[in-house]
Amino acid sequence: MRIVITGGAGFIGSHLCERYLAAGHHVTCVDNLLTGVAANVGHLLSHQDFVFIEHDVSKPLFLDAAVDRILHFASPASPIDYLQLPIQTLKVGSLGTHNMLGVARAKKARFLLASTSEVYGDPEIHPQKEDYWGNVNPIGIRGVYDEAKRFAEAMTMAYHRTHGVETRIVRIFNTYGNRMRLDDGRVLPNFMGQALRGEPLTVYGAGDQTRSFCHVTDLVEGIVRLMESDSPEPVNIGNPEEVTILQFAKEILELSGSSSPIVYKPLPQDDPRVRKPDITRARQRLGWEPLVNRREGLLITLEHFKKRIAAI
Ligand code: NAD
Ligand code: UDP
Repeated sequence: MRIVITGGAGFIGSHLCERYLAAGHHVTCVDNLLTGVAANVGHLLSHQDFVFIEHDVSKPLFLDAAVDRILHFASPASPIDYLQLPIQTLKVGSLGTHNMLGVARAKKARFLLASTSEVYGDPEIHPQKEDYWGNVNPIGIRGVYDEAKRFAEAMTMAYHRTHGVETRIVRIFNTYGNRMRLDDGRVLPNFMGQALRGEPLTVYGAGDQTRSFCHVTDLVEGIVRLMESDSPEPVNIGNPEEVTILQFAKEILELSGSSSPIVYKPLPQDDPRVRKPDITRARQRLGWEPLVNRREGLLITLEHFKKRIAAI
């Protein structure tokens, strides 16, 4: 198949490019390198079935060749990134999604939207199921990301219902692994970078807020299965193993053998108190289950960050 991946030079996008190439498909990666880096796909450039197009998908995109599948992953994703890039984030979620749905319609391609657990906001339902509508502050600082993704979901369903485009929506929960930027501000690269450099680990608030971390290989498997399923309704993909942020900091200290202290910093505005996916739908419709437990995934990721820090 001919696959287009927007945001393909980002953390998750680059793993998707690799996965589809390895399965024998042709991959066109479209990315403007706003938060991604060309080096993430540098090793793929010599592959005969790989094409990189540097382009901002908030502007129209015209492709000559046929397209079978579009995975729309372009968007800043780390809170630090989207707080620094609020208008680009709103534009890529709205205009970018509209443009890529237009390509899907014109090419009769199947379209998969990378949505997020952030559509649930600071959730009042725990764990989060796909039929929960969420608790989002539209004018809060995180609203630029949350509302862009909520709009993107609405636009995706409108193209499905109005134009008959085959669509899929994955609601991704916190994912980690190789090729996360050390400086992207998310909790895992922050804690691992701090532990490996012997700096204090910065826990925001009391650290009693929770997250549930999924290794990127599990996420990619879930996305590929969802794309080939017949489910236009959103599907949560994440690892339901929940942990408090303070416990997470302690785990990273233990696994890295670091003696860094923990320091407490103010909790950012609208930081969700809890987050854990209900993955019943993914289990039933995709036969999907995460396979990498947190300890195993953290050890693999620590090795990547060690090499990255050594190379700086
Ligand atoms: P990332 O920042 O590493 O990747 C995003 C990519 O999109 C980058 O390469 C960036 O340059 C590109 N991009 C941004 N705006 C663009 C534009 N206008 N035109 C073209 N390219 C553009 O982030 P990631 O963690 O890989 O996230 C990828 C997708 O998955 C995002 O849509 C994000 O919302 C979603 N997601 C990620 C997580 C997670 O835990 N990593 C959780 C939920 C949802
Ligand atoms: N966090 C933290 N210290 C850091 C970075 C993040 O305690 O150095 C907390 C943050 O407040 C949030 C959780 O870790 O409660 C996850 O943050 P992240 O930025 O990774 O993503 P989020 O899940 O909030 O989108």
